[in-house]
Amino acid sequence: MIVGGGFGGLYTALELASKPGHPPLLLVEPQDRFVFLPFLYERLSSEMPLWQMAPPYVELLAGHGIGWVQDRASSVDPERRQVKLSSGQTLNYSALVLACGTRADSFGITGVKEHCLTFQSLKDVERLRQIVHSLRQRRQSLQRLAVVGAGPSGVELACKLADLLKGAATVELIERGERCLPHAKAFNRAQAELALQSRDVRLRCNCSVEAVTAKQLQLKLEETQQSDTLAVEAVIWTAGQRANPLGGPLPLDDRGRLRCNAQLQLEGLPEIFALGDGAAIPHEPSLPATAQVAFQQAPLLADNLLARQQELPLKPFSWNDLGEMLSLGVGDATLTAMGVTLAGPAAQQMRRWVYLTRLPGRRLPLQVAAGWLSEWKLAPMGSPSR
Ligand SMILES: Cc1cc2nc3c(=O)[nH]c(=O)nc-3n(C[C@H](O)[C@H](O)[C@H](O)COP(=O)(O)OP(=O)(O)OC[C@H]3O[C@@H](n4cnc5c(N)ncnc54)[C@H](O)[C@@H]3O)c2cc1C
Repeated sequence: MIVGGGFGGLYTALELASKPGHPPLLLVEPQDRFVFLPFLYERLSSEMPLWQMAPPYVELLAGHGIGWVQDRASSVDPERRQVKLSSGQTLNYSALVLACGTRADSFGITGVKEHCLTFQSLKDVERLRQIVHSLRQRRQSLQRLAVVGAGPSGVELACKLADLLKGAATVELIERGERCLPHAKAFNRAQAELALQSRDVRLRCNCSVEAVTAKQLQLKLEETQQSDTLAVEAVIWTAGQRANPLGGPLPLDDRGRLRCNAQLQLEGLPEIFALGDGAAIPHEPSLPATAQVAFQQAPLLADNLLARQQELPLKPFSWNDLGEMLSLGVGDATLTAMGVTLAGPAAQQMRRWVYLTRLPGRRLPLQVAAGWLSEWKLAPMGSPSR
């Protein structure tokens, strides 16, 4: 049984299903579409149609022999080898994979849960589109949107919003640390800083959010310890993640992630595996929370599940950093990979084509490639499509 059909869970299920002698497979996932999250920015700007970046599970799983229960797991009982679902149903497993991902962490800051938007789902895209639309319609002076957290998500989103708003509102990017993208490759950080500047995004570093209300952000400047208030139309929170919770006696770290060994088995529970953003592996403490990691873990996990079934030794996970790509507004990106650095529209095209090879299933990448090639004949690539 595989709980969670995102990058970790879905790709493990598809990988296992392609192997001879695999056990019966059941995926538990509440959403009806898999969302290719790196393309969520392109969805916000209508640069990519829904079917290309969020294919329905029914289509992805068809013909693979994977059962699908559209429900949310609420707890795991390792002793009885059972998973309880939100509907009240209980399912038995012989081996279990947990890949539930993460959600925004409010760090207990007043008003974050109540007033901030997140940027992790198709619903979030719709909400943000409406806000951008109404700000562009109103065109009042001093309209502001704030993005909190200048990590990859915050920077990418701020650039995209600035392009979509076309001057109708100022985008503020609030960061507690000394600079944006502290863990990024130097070239990408430099390109991102230029992209933010050229779009007039106001990057406020050394600045912590103390509280959020419906129309205000209360800030503290780290250097002077002074407080400041910022009137805002909306706040999008990208400042931190916490693992999606599951009930039951499972080994967790201080961020709610499942503690695993190098073979991706839960500590003390060798029949339960975990991967993706919700898994913590002690021998890889600085593993980034990226799709690239989950994508590399999935085939290893599929092999380990089969090895365990056949009582063969399991292999440890080892992370291979293939590089980093960031989208920087409409038609713009930066990348650093395998000794190559590239920025601008060419990097944006490269990013799209690299991710194309990562889309799930066999048919979808071909269909998307065909769509892009036909667009290319009609209009230069990168122009907005429906
Ligand atoms: C906007 C955005 C852009 C990103 N861009 C990039 C990028 O360019 N490159 C990159 O490498 N990474 C990127 N990432 C990070 C990447 O998407 C994550 O690292 C990756 O999705 C982690 O995979 P996962 O399987 O752990 O979690 P997810 O892909 O989030 O999947 C978790 C799944 O579990 C399901 N679920 C949750 N709780 C339950 C439950 N209780 N029961 C059953 N199912 C449940 C969810 O519905 C979801 O489908 C981006 C993330 C975001 C939000």
